[in-house]
Amino acid sequence: MAAAIVIKDLRKSYGEVEAVRGISFDVSEGEVFALLGPNGAGKTTTVEICEGFRERSAGHVSVLGHDPAKGERSLKSRMGVVLQTTGVDVYLTVAETIELYQQAYPKPRRLDEVIELVGLQEKRNTRVGKLSGGQVRRLDVGVALAGDPELLFLDEPTTGFDPAARRGAWDVIRNLKALGKTILLTTHYMDEAQNLADDVAIIARGEIVARGTPATLGGRDTAATVVRFRLPEGAGELPDSLKSIATATEGGVQIATEDPTRALHELTGWALQRGVQIDALEVTRPSLEDVYLEITGGEAGAEQA
Ligand code: ATP
Repeated sequence: MAAAIVIKDLRKSYGEVEAVRGISFDVSEGEVFALLGPNGAGKTTTVEICEGFRERSAGHVSVLGHDPAKGERSLKSRMGVVLQTTGVDVYLTVAETIELYQQAYPKPRRLDEVIELVGLQEKRNTRVGKLSGGQVRRLDVGVALAGDPELLFLDEPTTGFDPAARRGAWDVIRNLKALGKTILLTTHYMDEAQNLADDVAIIARGEIVARGTPATLGGRDTAATVVRFRLPEGAGELPDSLKSIATATEGGVQIATEDPTRALHELTGWALQRGVQIDALEVTRPSLEDVYLEITGGEAGAEQA
């Protein structure tokens, strides 16, 4: 698969602050790539360098085969950008807003298609000032789609959304992927990356600290399974094979194992034989959130000093 974006050893400093410290990654054509990281990690800086809005301090960046720093018009017309803050005119209607942006592009996407893609058919003739926050964000995506770009940059597309609006926005992003668009999105929501992304890079303090698919990131696929449970009073001692790997926790007992089938069999076999009722039995694998918190040192939401 050809690469839509290639970044090699990218660096960016704002005076003394080293916001991006030598990151490298590729985004393949047609994939959804998520840059996941806490506030101040360097996500927006990286994305805005790709968009040509900020200058890099060092490194190589290629977007659709061009250097975005050159600000070529031909590149701009092939990409769509949704920034964190919106700048659409509150007095225009949804349709008028998209039409306004369509005029700037050589081959705009049809108005009806854009409105349908972002799910604003019922709000077509509503003024922007009367839309909800989630609807305005959808319109932002509509504006980014006006020129029918190959590549879309979505900077925290669902921050501040209620759960239903987030699901709606995810559907919009899935529709875009189905059309073959390449999407680079930033987010601090684990479930967003999990649900949408083909590839994820976790960025913290200006560096990529993990890279992979949502399923394999940080060794999730090979990490130990955790079995948790509570034993009633007088249940007696666990069998030796489990006793050696069990640890006492506040809520009961925990076993971390790479062979959960055997551990569960031994546990439930022992319990059935003794007529012991195991309470609150739970079998879990590390979630993307567990991996994220471990990798970023639990600094989700913390500003970089
Ligand atoms: P968020 O999730 O909060 O949007 P982010 O991961 O996108 O964060 P950036 O906005 O790229 O992070 O910021 C990275 C670091 O660079 C932060 O320490 C920030 O304060 C600093 N920074 C960003 N823009 C500027 C600027 N224009 N001038 C000076 N420092 C900046």
